[in-house]
Amino acid sequence: MVNTPIKTTKSQEIFAAAQNLMPGGVSSPVRAFKSVGGQPIVFDRVKDAYIWDVDGNQYIDYVGTWGPAICGHAHPEVTAALREALEKGTSFGAPSVLENVLAEMVIDAVPSIEMVRFVNSGTEACMGVLRVMRAFTNRDKIIKFEGCYHGHADTFLVKAGSGVATLGLPDSPGVPKSATSSTLTAPYNDLEAVKALFEENKDEIAGVILEPVVGNAGFIAPDAGFLEGLRELTHEYGALLVFDEVMTGFRIAYGGAQEKFGITPDLTTLGKVIGGGLPVGAYGGRRDIMSLVAPAGPVYQAGTLSGNPLAMTAGIKTLELLQKPGAYEYLDRITKKLADGLLQVAKETGHAVCGGQISAMFGLFFTSGPVHNYEDAKKSDTAKFGRFHRGMLERGIYLAPSQFEAGFTSLAHTDEDIDQTIAAARDVLSNL
Ligand code: PMP
Repeated sequence: MVNTPIKTTKSQEIFAAAQNLMPGGVSSPVRAFKSVGGQPIVFDRVKDAYIWDVDGNQYIDYVGTWGPAICGHAHPEVTAALREALEKGTSFGAPSVLENVLAEMVIDAVPSIEMVRFVNSGTEACMGVLRVMRAFTNRDKIIKFEGCYHGHADTFLVKAGSGVATLGLPDSPGVPKSATSSTLTAPYNDLEAVKALFEENKDEIAGVILEPVVGNAGFIAPDAGFLEGLRELTHEYGALLVFDEVMTGFRIAYGGAQEKFGITPDLTTLGKVIGGGLPVGAYGGRRDIMSLVAPAGPVYQAGTLSGNPLAMTAGIKTLELLQKPGAYEYLDRITKKLADGLLQVAKETGHAVCGGQISAMFGLFFTSGPVHNYEDAKKSDTAKFGRFHRGMLERGIYLAPSQFEAGFTSLAHTDEDIDQTIAAARDVLSNL
């Protein structure tokens, strides 16, 4: 494998101009490569498992537009369906049968969901679920976990993961204390801490929200018994259990983490995959709880573009593709091959690395581990990760530009792609 620096002249020019136009030159923080250093790449097009930059370099993509591209980018069936839908217009702002179709698919797939509301992003889904969980219980406090990210609404910006972790922002200026004073936090995988919070705040906690498999502090799996324990504790204290499956939904199993682990929460948030690459989020759950949402009930939440026909179409097609026999077996096999291969190469080249994979979600930490929570994740050598990231980029492998983000595979990733990725990692890690 040749180690010639890639030519990124156009990327650099465009990004330099972008910095005068948009804060940090980007529309979302992690894209700016702040935590890995170096210049971000500016992209031109995507197809299957690949992404091409404006200078013509091709990369194997493990970001997958942060999760939605589980069938591969620009899948011909998705783009054909979108072309057809486009002829009928981009938005109605009124009911369409496409919403019924996607709603039925989601309800059939996700064990906890009896009714669903579509929104435009994961952030919106989490904002909606927060309001409905507070209204249903008539309680204000919530428990979230350190390093879990539930979008950028005020209440959730306490010890949040993703870009907040990447940029080392403990909280964000502009979030009033009053907005976060009802947000209690516990370390992930720590049932004792959750129990203590329930004891200290009797009859005050509306519910517990979590990423059932963490992706926003890097990839962290739930310990055996953790999800079961949360289900029991929430029942015991009359609180709701909310799985934020914006990332894991239709990714780690068709029915998400709740199908995979056999634990049914009361409410669930979705996003990413259900929009097939268009802006979609959703929240749903028990009929008695969801019946509170306006106009069925008094809990207000609305959206101009919510349920728009293009987003619904991309979502429906994507879920149809995922229903094909063998889809999740394939995703699991190639992702395991990738994660095992990377760990093996790290071991052979003498680097302290730990990590793992569940279905089409994976992650590696530059620490010997084990990593059970965000504190453990933060022991990672982020400078080393930055050098690894740059080395992989120069060998045509596009990984999430942060130690604290999970990686994603798709049905379009081939065995050859995985082999090439592991070979690139061997090359980079041997010279790190
Ligand atoms: N929840 C989780 C678990 C997420 O991973 C994300 C986004 N990465 C969000 C919520 C927010 O979604 P969005 O970026 O679509 O607002």
